[in-house]
Amino acid sequence: MTKLAIMGAMEEEITPLLENFTNINKVDYANNTYYECKLGDLEVVIAYSKIGKVFSTLTASTMIQKFGCDTLLFSGVAGGVNPDLKIGDLIVANKLSQHDLDITAFGHPHGFVPGGSVFVNTDEKLKNIALAVAEQNNIKIIEGTIATGDQFVADEQRKAFIESTFKADALEMEGASVAAVCDALDVPCLILRAISDTADMDAGFNFEEFLVTSAKNSANFLMKVIDKIK
Ligand code: SAH
Repeated sequence: MTKLAIMGAMEEEITPLLENFTNINKVDYANNTYYECKLGDLEVVIAYSKIGKVFSTLTASTMIQKFGCDTLLFSGVAGGVNPDLKIGDLIVANKLSQHDLDITAFGHPHGFVPGGSVFVNTDEKLKNIALAVAEQNNIKIIEGTIATGDQFVADEQRKAFIESTFKADALEMEGASVAAVCDALDVPCLILRAISDTADMDAGFNFEEFLVTSAKNSANFLMKVIDKIK
């Protein structure tokens, strides 16, 4: 690893990350701000993409292709689907899918387009480091499937569809697109999320209440992971 990308979707998700760095150089590019900094000798670029698959695709691609990052770590919040995931708990993705990608009219499964695949895998090594760091620090983490779509899910029916169709443990709005970029460009990635809500009727309310603390949980844990990989 020579240059590390750390991204979130929202400002609240990268604020607790940026607090760990000094001498930050701001670069404005493509309607976004990229924060260049260093961790010892390691060059780091931090950014939040804005919400959703399009903006997260743009940011992940930019961090890799313009800034030359060769490892990408994502930190943020998600809606819990697996009942074992309570608000504040961590999940690290082993695979991700786009739950709103739908050309089923042509006989394809949900999440599939020709030339693609229903699921995209994340880097095994980074995931295992995250699991080991959690074990060493006695922190609860679940390894599982994350479903991504351009939709804030606050609805039991939609949640049940995503759970049964993709066997998803959590859902959010950026992970699968970031993982697809990394997979295509052969850059190892880690998608880490802390639960802010459980994608049910109370999701909007819970999200507002727990965004900041859950985003911090995810960021603090990611810093421990970075400590191991740097
Ligand atoms: N309140 C924000 C919008 C948040 S959208 C605003 O008004 O600007 C939700 C964000 O958190 C997305 O980045 C998504 O990745 C994640 N997320 C958390 N819970 C979610 C849920 N239940 N459904 C979809 N995304 C969720």
